[in-house]
Amino acid sequence: MSLPQFEVLQPATLGEALKILSEVKGAEPIAGGTNLIVDMRAGTHRPRVVVDVAALHDLPLIRNRATVGGNLVTAAPCSDTAPALLTLDAEVKLASVRGTRRVPLEKFLVNAFSTVRRLDELLISVRFPIPSATATGAFRKMGLRKISCMAKVDVAVMLDADATGRCTSARIALAAASPVAVRARAAEATLVGKVLTPEAIATAASLTAKAAVPRAGSEYKLSVVQGLARRLLAEAALGLERGGANA
Ligand SMILES: Cc1cc2nc3c(=O)[nH]c(=O)nc-3n(C[C@H](O)[C@H](O)[C@H](O)COP(=O)(O)OP(=O)(O)OC[C@H]3O[C@@H](n4cnc5c(N)ncnc54)[C@H](O)[C@@H]3O)c2cc1C
Repeated sequence: MSLPQFEVLQPATLGEALKILSEVKGAEPIAGGTNLIVDMRAGTHRPRVVVDVAALHDLPLIRNRATVGGNLVTAAPCSDTAPALLTLDAEVKLASVRGTRRVPLEKFLVNAFSTVRRLDELLISVRFPIPSATATGAFRKMGLRKISCMAKVDVAVMLDADATGRCTSARIALAAASPVAVRARAAEATLVGKVLTPEAIATAASLTAKAAVPRAGSEYKLSVVQGLARRLLAEAALGLERGGANA
């Protein structure tokens, strides 16, 4: 389908961009355009005005085309960045002409394609505490192809332990198996204070699957989540035994 007509505004500064978003009704930011343009072609999204934030020097950028900001704001169930960032306890910073606010990523993501971002806000940064030197994380994406495919299931984990091997912190997140990326809180809680034995890991993996809410017809994802969680937790536990390094 061809693109509908729309106007592109290219503000030179963040201040200008925020002013446009506050004053021009229906204006929508565009960064890499890898979601927005696809949606506009499909006719599912019809902004009259798009505000190009890709060239704003105020936003610290490491990217080629698609952006982390665009990925998080889209809040697609299969976002790959969200589960990894959830296990890092990330927060997003939102800016508007009224000022800025920080929101934990877990609260930012509300539901499929829904966030707490207000229409005149730009996501201007993502921050997370630097993990301890011993913390160990792991991430896996299951898709139908090796590259350029939407996730069928994502699982990310981040574990830390004390010198006796007892788990001091556990974060587990999943995506593509629930309406939006989520933390598996009950699974995390069951690990903290325990030695990371295969039994403890198996229990946590089973609770991770309970955090999944796959769509009807995709119930197979429950076993995929459980299997991936068990594998990643075991990898991370091994990484901790070796002194902490990302698995
Ligand atoms: C072929 C293909 C493969 C893909 N593969 C993957 C994949 O493997 N994993 C994955 O997770 N995704 C994938 N995607 C989806 C997409 O590329 C990502 O979600 C990407 O990170 C979106 O970023 P963007 O900068 O292109 O967003 P855009 O399309 O520019 O914007 C997306 C949405 O975010 C809003 N927005 C953008 N930037 C901001 C900002 N700073 N503040 C506020 N709102 C903002 C826009 O208004 C729009 O609503 C794929 C897409 C395609 C077309």
